[in-house]
Amino acid sequence: PGMSGADLENVVNEAALLAAREDHSMITMEDLERAKDKIVMGAERKIIISDEEKKIIAYHEAGHTMIQELIPEIDNTHMVTIVSRGRALGVTYSLPAEDMYLYARKRCLGDITGLLGGQAAEKIVFDELTSGASNDIERATDLARRMVCDWGMSELGPISLGSKDEEVFLGREIVQSRNHSDQTALKIDQEVRGIIDSCRNRAETLLQQNIDILHAMSNALLEFETLDRDQLDRLFRGEKLEPEEMPEPVSSDEEQRIARADSLSMKGFL
Ligand code: ZN
Repeated sequence: PGMSGADLENVVNEAALLAAREDHSMITMEDLERAKDKIVMGAERKIIISDEEKKIIAYHEAGHTMIQELIPEIDNTHMVTIVSRGRALGVTYSLPAEDMYLYARKRCLGDITGLLGGQAAEKIVFDELTSGASNDIERATDLARRMVCDWGMSELGPISLGSKDEEVFLGREIVQSRNHSDQTALKIDQEVRGIIDSCRNRAETLLQQNIDILHAMSNALLEFETLDRDQLDRLFRGEKLEPEEMPEPVSSDEEQRIARADSLSMKGFL
């Protein structure tokens, strides 16, 4: 779900290449899964990361995953990894249950909370913030701004507050192209900030209430590097993961591809 026809074509082509490289006589489901991961998240990248940074990345990705699990309105995590892919140091990949064409307010707020969950986990555990959340913050801010300016989902009501130009900084449009007053620009800033603040608080509260699972998941990520849906289910039930459940490593000598994880329908949290 969430893929266009062209995306699917890319996945199938990639799967055919993978299958040919390994002398399969036909394309297996495993080839398709690996092809999908590569198309959606970018190729795996071999870089050396210190143990300290790995730990931060693990908590960051676990933070996203926890929020996606704890907020019913948003998609659950399909897979989470601290293996660097494309430009990302770690990826939380969620899968919509079906294609979706309307974006409800509750879901917007849930998604913003999920985006902020990575840095919220860093803050709770390490009492420190890193630059790893810049893409999350950008997307969360963009979503909050669209709620206020395009979708009438704030106290400002159903007024289109956009501009022809898409250059935006926290709701303050480029002066010559905007269609509202300074006073309104200020209100937009306040509304956007209010949404971001309440979502960040919600993320921190949810993580704090489930801190044991957050620790268990981060430790499992450090041990296994990648967790699939099955393993996540067991973690949420409070079970321990056995070492032999480590998923097959995917070959990583392939050319780097720009991560397509940014698109909203294919939510990959970097
Ligand atoms: Zn993130």
